Amino acid sequence: MFGYESFRGPQADIIGHVAGGGDALVLMPTGGGKSLCYQIPALVRPGVGVVISPLIALMQDQVDALKALGVRAGFLNSTQDLDERRLVEQEFVAGEIDLLYLAPEALGTGGVQRLLDRGKIALFAIDEAHCVAQWGHDFRPDYLNLSMLHERWPDVPRIALTATATEATRQEIAQRLRLTEARHFVASFDRPNIQYRIVPKASPQKQLLDLLRTEHAGDAGIVYCLSRANVEKTAEFLTANGVAALPYHAGLDARTRARNQSRFLREDGLVMCATIAFGMGIDKPDVRFVAHLDLPKSVEGYYQETGRAGRDGLPSTAWLAYGLQDVVQQRRLIDTSEGDQRHRRNLAAHLDAMLALCETVECRRVRLLAYFGQTGKACGNCDTCMSPPESWDGTIAAQKFLSTVYRLKSERNQKFGVGQSVDILLGRRTDKVAQFRHDELSVFGIGDDLSEAEWRAVVRQLLAQQLLAVEGEFNTLVLTEASGEVLGRRREVMLRKEPARPARAARTPKA
Ligand code: ADP
Ligand code: ZN
Repeated sequence: MFGYESFRGPQADIIGHVAGGGDALVLMPTGGGKSLCYQIPALVRPGVGVVISPLIALMQDQVDALKALGVRAGFLNSTQDLDERRLVEQEFVAGEIDLLYLAPEALGTGGVQRLLDRGKIALFAIDEAHCVAQWGHDFRPDYLNLSMLHERWPDVPRIALTATATEATRQEIAQRLRLTEARHFVASFDRPNIQYRIVPKASPQKQLLDLLRTEHAGDAGIVYCLSRANVEKTAEFLTANGVAALPYHAGLDARTRARNQSRFLREDGLVMCATIAFGMGIDKPDVRFVAHLDLPKSVEGYYQETGRAGRDGLPSTAWLAYGLQDVVQQRRLIDTSEGDQRHRRNLAAHLDAMLALCETVECRRVRLLAYFGQTGKACGNCDTCMSPPESWDGTIAAQKFLSTVYRLKSERNQKFGVGQSVDILLGRRTDKVAQFRHDELSVFGIGDDLSEAEWRAVVRQLLAQQLLAVEGEFNTLVLTEASGEVLGRRREVMLRKEPARPARAARTPKA
């Protein structure tokens, strides 16, 4: 029916287990082949497989693709008119389809629940199951209702699937969906064809253009930016420089979004500049690169987004430009975010794990897999493997910087950011230095052994290691408890040396 020669990874085990009536929780990376895990059991078991998916915009495509294979499928969601709905409802009750796709919000309505009672259900498949995790990166309140499936239809087997794999998320899914008896199937999360690279951010658009020209000319790819404005600017910049690029963010009207998405899927070699609103469920096999111009908020997010590259198994690039401002900005966003203390602590923990991945001197893939509780060997296909960064003892540099921050703090009512401290350390007599007589400080000029870029890298890493923090609307630098340990010589600070030139791919660039 599907035309494949063999099962992949744990597919056969999962299919056997669910077809036999067992519950399952499936963790498999994007592109791993999750759909087959519920489609085949739905065909094998009597009745209709009910698939709950948040991806309303893709249901039509998914159902069309199944019909093309000869699988009888239908969907119910808010985009249909009454006649279309009636037809699918009749087919469901008569058992004339094998798969029925539903949006999670539909299950909350009495009408849909009564409809399901009138037919025979082969199984429930809960796709993108991490959406039930309240502290995760994709929480959808409608998913909380899905615990009702077990209460109302206790004999129907359930399979929950996700590409988000941390232990915490897995436990939360099992608990919230009442999947207490479910067998857990965890596939390897390694995506060996993706080359991970994280580079220091200087002028990100130019760096991106350089990457596209030297390694990805004519390739399809996705460029993620944090803000809508930056999405627009980047798409314009690429277009002006001869790269066919489209914007995608939640601020564009629905028609433009749909048009840009379908052009990206159907045409060759388009670059989609997008916020993270774009990408879930997008099945385009030949995305050759995913670039991040801003720091993702969590390792899960980074993994999901980069995972959209190279679903066809061919060499692909995951490239992230990351700098001091990212750390400052993200810490600010967390400080000013809504929600209680616990929520902010949770966001901060996610960010810290992401920062640790950026600043590691180890293999990126090993770090990434370790985050998901999996082990691996140094991969040879990431920037730190290809040009290992050196680490250096930055204790003295850290002490110089932290004491500058300490001295500036004692000036009441004055707030200074990174720039002023660096100017002081480098001994620059700028107007602002003269105005506040900072050239009279004992730290003035004591840091001219490092360049400005090197100082900014030091500050970035101090922020990442929480030896320094930012505060207030002007991003004033402040000391943390741990800063005291460094100043009091009770703690060493190891830092990552920036590669002289950004690491380049080992493979030969395309002609
Ligand atoms: P996921 O939902 O895990 O991201 P999909 O179910 O969309 O992944 O499958 C990803 C791709 O892999 C699809 O193009 C699918 O046709 C293909 N695929 C799935 N299972 C197999 C298999 N056993 N052999 C070959 N290709 C497969
Ligand atoms: Zn590596």
